[in-house]
Formats: sequence, C-alpha cells, structure tokens
Amino acid sequence: MTDEKRNVLVIGGSRGIGAAIVQRFAEAGDRVTFSYAGSADAAAALQKNTGAVAIRSDAADREAVVALVKSRGKLDVLVINAGALVLGNPLDLDADAVDRMIDLNVRAPYHAAVEAARTMGDGGRIVMIGSVNGDRMPFEGGAAYALTKSAMQGMARGLARDFGGRNITVNVVQPGPTDTDMNPGDGPMSDFMHGFMAIKRHVRPMEVAGMVAWLAGPDAGAVTGAMHTIDGGFGA
Ligand code: NDP
Repeated sequence: MTDEKRNVLVIGGSRGIGAAIVQRFAEAGDRVTFSYAGSADAAAALQKNTGAVAIRSDAADREAVVALVKSRGKLDVLVINAGALVLGNPLDLDADAVDRMIDLNVRAPYHAAVEAARTMGDGGRIVMIGSVNGDRMPFEGGAAYALTKSAMQGMARGLARDFGGRNITVNVVQPGPTDTDMNPGDGPMSDFMHGFMAIKRHVRPMEVAGMVAWLAGPDAGAVTGAMHTIDGGFGA
C-alpha cells in the first residue's frame, strides 16, 4: 500500500461500530464509502460530518451487495460490518428472521469479500466484524447468532488462503458487548453481560474501529486468516 488515499468501503456504516469505522478511516484521510439499509438520517449526518459517501443498499440481498462492491471499483479496504442479532428460544424463534440473519451475517460477507477480491490489488485488506460469540456462547438463546459468527471464522480462514498469494489479507474482528443501538451499554442486559467480562464495561465502538484500522494499516500485512477479539475478557 502507498500513502495515497485508500479506497475504502464499509458495508453497514450508518450507526454503531460501522459508523465509528467510517469516522476512523475518514479521519485518516481515506476515500470512504459506506452502505446502510434503513437509517437515512444517521447516514446523511455521518456523510456530512466525515465527507464519506453514503449509499443505500440492502446487504442481505446478494445481488445488491455484489453490485455495491462492483460499483466502488478497485478497493484497498473492504470492511463488512452489517449484521443482525436474533436471540431467543430456538423453539419459538421466527424461522424467517433466523434465515434473514444468516443472509446478512454469513452469505453477504462471503459474496462481498469474493467480489472485492476480483479487483483488489496487492496488499488489499478485507476485515469482517464477527463476534466473541463465534468462540463462546455462554447463555441460552444465542445458537443462531453464534452459528453465523462461527461461520465467518471458517470463511475468513479459507479466503485468507485463497487470496494470500496476492498479499490480500482476510481477518475477523470479534467484539464482545459493545455500546451501540444493538446492545446499549446502559441497557437492561448490561449487568448480565458484564458478569461474563473481566473488564466490566461495554467496549466502545471507537476501540473496535482502532483494531480495524490497525488490521488495514502497514503493520498488519502478515496478519491473515485470524480472529482478533476485543471483548473485555468475555471469552477468557
Ligand atoms: P447496530 O445495529 O447498532 O448497527 C448496525 C449497522 O449495520 C447499521 O449501520 C445498519 O444500518 C447496518 N445494517 C444492518 N442491516 C443492514 C442491511 N441489511 N444492509 C445494510 N446495512 C445494514 O449494530 P452494531 O454496531 O452493534 O453491530 C455491528 C456489527 O458488530 C454486527 O455485525 C454485529 O453482529 C457485531 N457485533 C456487535 C456487538 C455489540 O455488542 N454491539 C458485539 C459483537 C459483534 P441501518 O440502520 O441503516 O439499517
């Protein structure tokens, strides 16, 4: 990679961890595009504040996500952040909601990564946002979510092998409880979550963004096919 502005795409960047990642790359002077599905106001505000380009595109739709990646040309960095969390007793969960989560958390990252790698140059970086639940699922009701984040691990390991010959790295960042709309730091589940953690607070979205930035930076060129957990010790 050179010192020129990098072409960065963040899939699912309007809120939470994705918005922090957009902000972090924009602050570094990169050319950033991010996608979103529903939060038009948040996307517009982030676009205004960071200079990043917002594009509405449903990441759960394979054709849409492939078209989005294609539309950004030769990427230097692809971050796949969009994800859903469906929790509950598997005997009661809506099967369609589970399948939609699998579309978004598993199928989309795979197809987006493959599409990006078609044109990515030497030194390209692919980072997926997984979860510590890919490693550890210590409470009931998380089987379907955990399966999506474990699937991401296998995907990243395999794609790292497939694209390593071109010095493209593929990594997973695995947050633990992180303070976002999905899992508010002051929400009803907070004390329960902190009970599993060594550092008893939610992770901050900017802390996750810092790890993503490192993986996309010059010191991480030999880091690939690996899981990078940032979870306050949730998985320890
Ligand atoms: P939020 O729900 O706060 O934000 C999700 C982001 O993804 C939003 O910008 C949302 O955009 C976007 N998004 C959701 N669905 C789609 C879609 N179909 N197409 C395009 N964009 C979409 O989630 P978090 O920031 O908390 O989570 C981000 C990632 O981190 C997820 O993959 C999640 O599984 C993972 N994670 C989160 C943890 C946490 O505790 N918060 C812990 C471990 C992992 P919009 O609103 O516009 O639809």
